[in-house]
Amino acid sequence: MKPTLQRPVVFKDSLSAPVVSPIMPSVVYASKTPDELDSQYAGEAHGYTYAREGHPNADILAQRIAMMEGMQGGIITGSGMAAVSAALMGLCENGDHVVGGNQLYGRSLRLMSEDLPRYGIETSLADTTNAQAVAEAIKPNTKLVLVEIVSNPTIRIADLDGIAEVCKEKGVLLVVDNTFTTPAALKPVEHGADIVLHSVTKLLAGHADVTLGWVCAKDPALMERMTIYAVTHGLTASPFECWLAERGLATFDLRYQRAQQTAQRLADAFAEMPNVKRVVYPTRQDHPEAARAQSLLQGRGANMVSFEIEGGRAQANAFTEAASELAFAPTLGDVGTTISHPNSSSHRNVPEADRLANGISEGFFRVSVGLEDPDAMIAAFTKGLKAAQEVSE
Ligand SMILES: *Cc1c(COP(=O)(O)O)cnc(C)c1O
Repeated sequence: MKPTLQRPVVFKDSLSAPVVSPIMPSVVYASKTPDELDSQYAGEAHGYTYAREGHPNADILAQRIAMMEGMQGGIITGSGMAAVSAALMGLCENGDHVVGGNQLYGRSLRLMSEDLPRYGIETSLADTTNAQAVAEAIKPNTKLVLVEIVSNPTIRIADLDGIAEVCKEKGVLLVVDNTFTTPAALKPVEHGADIVLHSVTKLLAGHADVTLGWVCAKDPALMERMTIYAVTHGLTASPFECWLAERGLATFDLRYQRAQQTAQRLADAFAEMPNVKRVVYPTRQDHPEAARAQSLLQGRGANMVSFEIEGGRAQANAFTEAASELAFAPTLGDVGTTISHPNSSSHRNVPEADRLANGISEGFFRVSVGLEDPDAMIAAFTKGLKAAQEVSE
């Protein structure tokens, strides 16, 4: 059979334009001449060549997230961890030192404690609720400080302004993972961050159907180093996933507002529920950084609530089993509410003494509040907690 010569179909005959970004799955882009291709590679003309190096759907998504963060561009990576890797591995060299928050996302902690040292990059962890502790961890060879403003799952609030001041004074880059906090509550560049990153998988995409990340530096030279690292190490993402996330972003603000409203109400309801020992939510008076939540987050408590129940594993099992209308699943930022139990998931490999020092006991749960009816949610939680209470020790 004779192969046909296929050229792409380009719809140039419509006067009107689509209102939704098209998905452009092409892996390669054809150029007219070697001269033109050369000028693209040299950065003299804009154009795409190969999808791992860049494609329109990634650029559209990156620019949309950048606008939300008050930044320019950035790169889309295949996951949030790929964004963390692009920042840490793309910018540090053998002999550098990195300071990270001691309550970072579990995989970021692993990257800090297990992987960076294998490449000759030293790391230290510090309590980011205390800028002085971060200042004391900084050494002459410290390249950057990695901070999450609201910690997972303990919902503690970092002294971002204090840390930014320390970083500026010592000439150290400040990298903020803004996944938990989101630009709806705070834009880290307005508080002195040099690099901002996201697990787009969570609230930004918001539907638990796509795994992506984004990372952006203010300084174009740093941006270029992270981009080269991401492209060479294959951390970039597919067009379809970028398109799905762009669709999710369209409703981010509405989802955030609604989830926050419900979370606030739920936090107060938890405090009255059977068997609950402790509730952690930024806008509650009993939060350890209640004043900072007001000044830094301007009273935005966001969508995450943690609480601790009386008892051990048996009570924890009874609770999730009886609250079966709510997904017991270790993720966050989805349109559906998810309950996570750090002891059996994200923190299972953290030594018990360290877990307990942060209040993460067998009875500790983290809730990512979704968009379901708040009354139905309260009823499901109440049922679960009653079941936990009925378990005899
Ligand atoms: C989920 C998460 C990540 C990792 O993102 P993935 O998309 O799962 O790779 C990083 N940081 C924070 C704060 C997260 O919640």
